[in-house]
Amino acid sequence: MQTNFTPAQLADPHVAESEKILRKCVHCGFCTATCPTYVTLGNELDSPRGRIYLIKDMLENGRPADAEVVTHIDRCLSCLACVTTCPSGVDYMPLVDHARAHIEKTYKRPFMNRLVRAILAAVLPYPDRFRLAIKLSSAGRPFAGLLARAPALKPFAAMLALAPRRIPPTSAYAAAASHPPVGEKRGRVAILTGCAQPVLDPGINEATIRLLTRLGVEVVVPKGEVCCGSLVHHMGREEQALASARANVDVWTRELEEGGLDAIIITASGCGTTIKDYGHMLRLDAAYAEKAARVSSLAKDITEYLASLELAAQMPKGIIVAYHSACSMQHGQKITMAPKQLLKAAGFNVRDPAEGHLCCGSAGTYNIMQSDISDALKTRKVKNLEATKPRVIATGNIGCMMQIGTGTAIPIVHTVQLLDWAYGGDMPEKLKDLPLA
Ligand code: SF4
Ligand code: SF4
Repeated sequence: MQTNFTPAQLADPHVAESEKILRKCVHCGFCTATCPTYVTLGNELDSPRGRIYLIKDMLENGRPADAEVVTHIDRCLSCLACVTTCPSGVDYMPLVDHARAHIEKTYKRPFMNRLVRAILAAVLPYPDRFRLAIKLSSAGRPFAGLLARAPALKPFAAMLALAPRRIPPTSAYAAAASHPPVGEKRGRVAILTGCAQPVLDPGINEATIRLLTRLGVEVVVPKGEVCCGSLVHHMGREEQALASARANVDVWTRELEEGGLDAIIITASGCGTTIKDYGHMLRLDAAYAEKAARVSSLAKDITEYLASLELAAQMPKGIIVAYHSACSMQHGQKITMAPKQLLKAAGFNVRDPAEGHLCCGSAGTYNIMQSDISDALKTRKVKNLEATKPRVIATGNIGCMMQIGTGTAIPIVHTVQLLDWAYGGDMPEKLKDLPLA
């Protein structure tokens, strides 16, 4: 694609990077076929190619964002299916991140939209606030129908629909600690505690720590970890996201220098995609660029790390597992085989749903801010998953677990919870009382 940025514009490193990405696009439109919003809405402006044109036009003309650009960029799930599909190697992620930051700086959103976004940014990344918000949601539940009728209040109705009715107590595993290996030590890793996941399902990190320590790996829960920054990053709140990234880089660098680390383990693929991007996000910060790149190189999804440990094959269990590959796992991190191979080796009968490349509609805060599109994608995803006739659904991202879990009665667990069970741990809580064979 031809571009016409001035030398003065290209002096801005963000513009220079976006220009390079734009120039790679050859308008072929292959990406439209796998874009969930284009597939759902059928509007070119809700396709990757359409958004690329809108972003180019806005940046090239040095214009503030307008309502049209904001509408179509807000509808983008950041699922990155377009990156997987694009034959020209268009790296859409930094481009849409740049557009979102530009929108945040130059566009004044309607009051209710600003309010909802401010609430989400102030609550979701902080486990204590998030826990309190879920507890308070029961008081608002009777008004959900009323809220859903007013377009500006719809996000509040979506929040209430997604909020679980009960949340587990805080896990002892969430506290800063070092969990020693059982038997001979074969590695030392840090684990990201996370923000929403330990509130919604602490069993995921518990299973991870139990499994890794049984396999001879010391697991450190470092003091001072914060949210990875992904949720606010996708809202265009660049400074808040970078502050989170810097805080975590400091924590893990300290841990690396004091005790050595083979990996930083992440059990939510949405967080993993962002942490693997810290090196890029902080590339212009001289004090952090090198440390952030080192942290990114150590970041591993739990299934990536487990694949390197060569676990022994287990007897078949006769349990059908539908594997849902989160977008951040398959498109963001390009991890496609490891989770399924691990589950198969652990004795599960793994099935792939049709249209596995399409997003479930979760996408961070998307299911709150864009609930209609999100619901359509959830319905489509659940139908495809249920068609495989599974006893259980497995995935590697808490956002997908919550989203799909509100659309089906089939239990949905994290991949590592099945692996922990298969290798000597407890059966996941959600599977107890379920006829599995
Ligand atoms: S597939 Fe790639 S090159 Fe083709 S239109 Fe989409 S982004 Fe551009
Ligand atoms: S990130 Fe996903 S929703 Fe956004 S343009 Fe690409 S394929 Fe479409």
